Amino acid sequence: MTELNVFLLRTFAAPGRNSHKNPGNTDVLMHTYIDTHAHLYSAKFSTDRHEMIARAVSAGVVKMYLPNIDAESVQAMLELEASFPDNCMAMMGLHPCSVQPDTYEKELALVEKNLGERVWAGIGETGIDLYWDKSTLDIQKLAFSRQIEWAKDLGRPLVIHSRESNRECLDLVKNGQDGRLRGIFHCFSGTLEEAREMTDLGFMLGIGGTLTYPKSELPSVLREIPLDYLVLETDAPYLPPVPHRGKRNESSYIPLIASMLSEVKVLPISLIAKTTTANAERMFSAT
Ligand SMILES: [Zn+2]
Repeated sequence: MTELNVFLLRTFAAPGRNSHKNPGNTDVLMHTYIDTHAHLYSAKFSTDRHEMIARAVSAGVVKMYLPNIDAESVQAMLELEASFPDNCMAMMGLHPCSVQPDTYEKELALVEKNLGERVWAGIGETGIDLYWDKSTLDIQKLAFSRQIEWAKDLGRPLVIHSRESNRECLDLVKNGQDGRLRGIFHCFSGTLEEAREMTDLGFMLGIGGTLTYPKSELPSVLREIPLDYLVLETDAPYLPPVPHRGKRNESSYIPLIASMLSEVKVLPISLIAKTTTANAERMFSAT
């Protein structure tokens, strides 16, 4: 799909725009958003990938940042970025769940090689995951530390996956912070104290579909965190917001997350869209 096609789709084919059938949604659809974390190269989109991107752009989600997983995801990610150079931006890194004893050195060497070959939107996703596998904690820390150094050297934002490991991730970030580190704690989950530690370190919180889940404790935390530290994300195809739970997630659902954040913060959705978009632009900018 060409840039012009995407523009035309966005301008003239936005579902709900100027529609009398769904007036309640019109305001939500008029804004510009950034999905700061989406695995849109996933095989889950193999049958309708281009239509899915067009739906996102129609919904106002004009930029989608693609975090890498490991050696196996690079090719599909680059192909998607090449198809939508104005909308999809690739990152480079090694996901903590792909840090395995037999392969992680080779994986990190490939990341390092890729980082040397071009400019990437960010370093990630990286971090620590103690939900799936605690036995690899030592090598997860090692891989994360290496990526922290690359983020500093290259001046790129660090995109952190922290699952049941906020303490471990915060300690490594704190240790590495010399004024050059910035980034996002993607799919933030944690206490107000942890959120404040993250923002004090110069990091933003990635807010996604979990905010819409009835049992979420995020609303009480986010009420206390200034909007300037929040960015939106889907983590598509995972973690779809209400009412799409149990199905595939996609970037066109970002307005649903923005709408929930607007309720939580008691702020107009226009301000949520404008501020989170500006935050993401600032985070991923070249300096
Ligand atoms: Zn992810």
